[in-house]
Amino acid sequence: MEKIVIILFGPPGVGKGTQGKIVSRELTIPHIATGDIMREEVELRSPLGLKVKDFLGRGLLVPDEIVIDIIRERLKKDDTQKGFILDGFPRTVNQAESLDKLFSELNIKDYKVLYIDVPDEEILKRLSGRRICRNCQTAYNIYFNPPKKEGVCDVCGGELIRREDDSEEKVKKRLEVYKEQTLPVIQYYQRKNRKVIKIDGLGTVEEVKKRILSAVFDSGR
Ligand code: AMP
Repeated sequence: MEKIVIILFGPPGVGKGTQGKIVSRELTIPHIATGDIMREEVELRSPLGLKVKDFLGRGLLVPDEIVIDIIRERLKKDDTQKGFILDGFPRTVNQAESLDKLFSELNIKDYKVLYIDVPDEEILKRLSGRRICRNCQTAYNIYFNPPKKEGVCDVCGGELIRREDDSEEKVKKRLEVYKEQTLPVIQYYQRKNRKVIKIDGLGTVEEVKKRILSAVFDSGR
């Protein structure tokens, strides 16, 4: 059976994490988010966590070698046999090139690049109200999608916190970093004739999920 490999692309706050988790459950393939992996390491105060903490806190990209290593190790795991969803990787052209090499080592030829598109004003609104579970990283929004009980995760009962990098100043920095370092990745895929499929990220979580699934199962590339 053909693996289902999805790259979820787009600026911070467009719903990559929320959609990645939902689509992952629906298709029973893992959701691999480099931001989640590194936040967990920071919480654990592991050697990797200590190395990356400062970059995350300041809204800057972690050096390519570190993130590429994380992905290389993660894609070797058995649970990726049926496919996987990448969220937040690749974020630089260098990472995209390394991913290509990794895909050829793993014999992955077909993958979909989905770009979730949301206007900047909406992104700012979403990020200012965002809270995430310290434990399972499920995202909520205190204005649009609050948890059943204030401050508590519906999924696992974990504590909900505001991400350090969701302050107005850090969000501005992250959007700048996105425009400078991450947007060129789209041109990289276009140069390789790999179609980047635009998904409208406005609407309900369910509506956006349906758009993603129809793009994934559309036979054209
Ligand atoms: P995210 O949860 O995807 O918004 O990522 C949070 C933070 O983790 C980013 O602002 C970066 O500091 C770091 N990060 C996540 N993915 C990457 C990546 N592919 N390359 C470099 N840094 C990353």
